[in-house]
Amino acid sequence: MSEQAEQADAAVETPVLDRYECRACGYVYEPEKGDDKYSIPAGTLFSELPINWRCPVCTAKKAAFVNIGPAGTASGFKENLNYGFGVNKLTPNQKNILIFGALALGFLLFISLYGLQ
Ligand SMILES: [Zn+2]
Repeated sequence: MSEQAEQADAAVETPVLDRYECRACGYVYEPEKGDDKYSIPAGTLFSELPINWRCPVCTAKKAAFVNIGPAGTASGFKENLNYGFGVNKLTPNQKNILIFGALALGFLLFISLYGLQ
């Protein structure tokens, strides 16, 4: 596998699971949990719910729901990747090359000291 392919793999992100809130009663549909009452499996997007799906609390139609965005737990994570001189963006393979490359350089420097004497 080439380095470019590995970087592409590392860049793959999980799809954003938007939550929807019922404007009538405040119930929040969370895609991660699904909906037991209507046998909706976890991971089902709101847009993938059957057209006859209704709020399990107040039976409001899908049109009564508003997108309130994904759960905020992952915010800031992407920004953190830019800290630490970009080392966090490296794949484990690239980190190994960096570490062993530094060791090899140090070894060559050590050997060259003998050459000077
Ligand atoms: Zn409702």
